[in-house]
Amino acid sequence: MRATTVLNRLLRVEGVRVIGVTVAEGPGGPVTLSVAPRCSVWLSCPHCRFRTRRAYDQRPVDSQWRHLDLAGRVCLLRMRRRRLACPTHGVVTQAVAFARPDSRFTSVFEDLVVWLTIRADKSTVAAFARVAWRTVGAMCQRVSAQLLEDDRLAGLVNIGVDEISWRKHHKYLTLVSDAATGTIVWGTAGKTAEAFAGFFDDLPEGGAEKIATVSMDLGPAYAKTLTEKAPTAVICYDPFHVVKVVTDALDELRRRHWQAARALPDQDLATMYKGARWALLKNQPDLTYTQAVTLATLRGQGGQVIRGHHLKESLRAVFAGDLDPDQAQNLLSRWCSRASRSQIPEFVRASRTIRAHRAGITAALDYGMNNGRHEALNAKARLIINRARGFHTANAALALILLACGPRQPALPYHTR
Ligand SMILES: [Zn+2]
Repeated sequence: MRATTVLNRLLRVEGVRVIGVTVAEGPGGPVTLSVAPRCSVWLSCPHCRFRTRRAYDQRPVDSQWRHLDLAGRVCLLRMRRRRLACPTHGVVTQAVAFARPDSRFTSVFEDLVVWLTIRADKSTVAAFARVAWRTVGAMCQRVSAQLLEDDRLAGLVNIGVDEISWRKHHKYLTLVSDAATGTIVWGTAGKTAEAFAGFFDDLPEGGAEKIATVSMDLGPAYAKTLTEKAPTAVICYDPFHVVKVVTDALDELRRRHWQAARALPDQDLATMYKGARWALLKNQPDLTYTQAVTLATLRGQGGQVIRGHHLKESLRAVFAGDLDPDQAQNLLSRWCSRASRSQIPEFVRASRTIRAHRAGITAALDYGMNNGRHEALNAKARLIINRARGFHTANAALALILLACGPRQPALPYHTR
């Protein structure tokens, strides 16, 4: 059998045949395969469905793509392409079936890298695939654009909207999730009311009227958008964010006591308050042994900080998900009056915030929302966001999140069941 015949059978690259092979000297050099289109009659536009028999000119364009490695060597495909004039896109180089438009990699190579990026950390991916991390961001965008080109925004009923920081210096993304599937279905750069408004512009005709509930944080931005764009939808303040109001209050309270203790001649108390941050803020079952001891010591001493901790834990119990809505409402009312009478300024303020948002919190409890779902999705998004921090654009970060947490995830090429 001829070498090119073997390679044709092995490669299975769509729409082309191998016409020549060169293997570079040395153990690590690339394998370069020259390929030619199987059908040389039709020329297609890479951006639309337009195709023609007529070439724009006789000037050839020599292109090269990276393909899956061959026996440990980098494998390159080389092809001479022609140009055509698309009525919509102007003079363009002909499309190839095996690579996405404007990519220097074959589609299967990109699919492999993106599949790995969802599962492995940055340095693993870059070392394994021998590509720069910036390139991985561009691959994520191309794969995501292709995968998400469906009606994923049709039929949304209960959704959540949240902001997530994807880079330092206040770079945020707004993400919309579908409560029915627990997946992230939409996102954009920024965290303003306008950013969320873009979601309603992308919904199909009549989509906004179908949305029944939207869970969100207690900030004014997303609520403002909702009253304008989907006035019939019910605002539900996410239990996770309600509890956060109180954990923030507790941390402020601890810091105030720490500052006061630093002025004392004996620094022991200050050191204890300083080290007690996570012992106080973390959920009790998640404490380490040392943190549990710190908490027990604080409890032995009594005072405002430990009372604040008790208030935080009792609010968390309201949203634990094991109470019926009436019990939860009752407990929440009692919590608000206890907090407002606590004489701890941070908690008096927190109880005021919660009372001001009571309608949305009541709605969340009535619809049976609890802490778990939001935290699970957020934990996954946060893990992925750490990987996306190396990307330079919000769109690349967003593409990776939609691929990892979205309704359709990329498959590993060439793996069949
Ligand atoms: Zn076109």
